[in-house]
Amino acid sequence: MKYISTRGDRTERRFCEILLEGLAPDGGLYLPLAYPKVDAATLARWRGLRYAELAFEILSLYIDDIPAADLKALVDKTYTAEVFGSEAIVPVRRLGDSGLMIEALSNGPTLAFKDMAMQLLGNLFEYELARRGEQLNILGATSGDTGSAAEYAMRGKKGVRVFMLSPHGRMSPFQQAQMFSLQDANIHNLAVEGVFDDAQDIVKAVSNDLAFKRQYKIGTVNSINWARLLAQVVYYFAGYFQATKDNSEQVSFCVPSGNFGNVCAGHVARMMGLPVKHLVVATNENDVLDEFFRTGSYRVRGSAETHETSSPSMDISKASNFERFVCDLLGRDGARVRTLFGETLAREGVFTLNAEERAHVADFGFQSGKSTHADRLSTIRSTWARFATLVDPHTADGVKVAAEHVEAGVPMIVLETALPTKFAATIREALGREPERPAVLAGLEALPKRFTVVPAQVDVVKAFVAEHCQD
Ligand SMILES: *Cc1c(COP(=O)(O)O)cnc(C)c1O
Repeated sequence: MKYISTRGDRTERRFCEILLEGLAPDGGLYLPLAYPKVDAATLARWRGLRYAELAFEILSLYIDDIPAADLKALVDKTYTAEVFGSEAIVPVRRLGDSGLMIEALSNGPTLAFKDMAMQLLGNLFEYELARRGEQLNILGATSGDTGSAAEYAMRGKKGVRVFMLSPHGRMSPFQQAQMFSLQDANIHNLAVEGVFDDAQDIVKAVSNDLAFKRQYKIGTVNSINWARLLAQVVYYFAGYFQATKDNSEQVSFCVPSGNFGNVCAGHVARMMGLPVKHLVVATNENDVLDEFFRTGSYRVRGSAETHETSSPSMDISKASNFERFVCDLLGRDGARVRTLFGETLAREGVFTLNAEERAHVADFGFQSGKSTHADRLSTIRSTWARFATLVDPHTADGVKVAAEHVEAGVPMIVLETALPTKFAATIREALGREPERPAVLAGLEALPKRFTVVPAQVDVVKAFVAEHCQD
């Protein structure tokens, strides 16, 4: 399999060439030349596989520059019951007779779905860097879930160091404890005196200094990384097999969305031939994506227009992976994608599909809906009262929107993107009680913390990286 850019650069690259990259050189995102189609016999064979075996089969269709035995070993090492809490890895449970099911993606080390991809990425990075004899210093900014997932994936990995910036004093106590309690020498937490945008701006400024970037081998692990998306495709298949008796059945998925990364993997699974009827995009008050599916207009927001909500990991103003879907929608017309994203959006902050383009959206199975703080609280309460199931605020957005789209005879699988204990304040607000915490995380907040407070200054961060990237 070879990869090309969404914006018309047809240079073909192999998987390991794009593994450590962010954007394509023309500013687009990488997509495979074509999606491999899974026939009925293959789907039937996959139904019986363990998660790691299924992951190997799917990844093998997209990766031809890692020897099969090595890829198998990497996948086997990643998806274990020890790391993800059960043999099923992503167990599906039914919500009574509501027609809804919940697929648990949040039983990895940081209790959010980002572990599903990031844990594999850590092993792939270590493997590829060793093969090249290279090192990589990952620089990132986080307001919570992404940073911790990256740190837990990269801790102790040879050839990789992580420098993670976060807004000092602004993450939840749980999130701070989760990140700052890591004692691994290759993990550096920098608490920036400022807000998330300040931290993000510093990362951008450092990445734009090409000489510094090259000298200190700076890389990222952001959500546009193709390998992350590919790892996520696997759990759509795994969820389907658990929710159905045989491959003649269809299911729908409802996905709490911000950057369109998670649900974009569902789109890829559907393009490969997984019998998915609908992909329901659930947003919070930051409803850029819901607006697009309702109106055909994609309008990014400024930071002043981006709401701080009680499902904070979906508080985005611009959906970084959305360009991948639009590229498929437009029949891979790179020139048109470049016009919409590289020109119209950059100039006007909005683009609108023409009538013919809009008519195609339905062919891709997408539906959408939105959820607010009040919806979140009432969904957490009703899901608890009716089904004795406690959901986190992001998953609650999914359950709320899923209930509006469920169809008789088609199981609706809601992806659980975090565990409630990560967002305890909202659970307390909804139910007046503490969410339970997995036993291994008891006393997390009391562990010694290792982090450095820095002013929001690019030069200070650069100096820190320069000083610590030889350790
Ligand atoms: C990242 C995240 C999301 C949003 O996922 P996208 O891929 O950005 O759409 C939803 N819920 C939780 C808990 C997350 O961490």
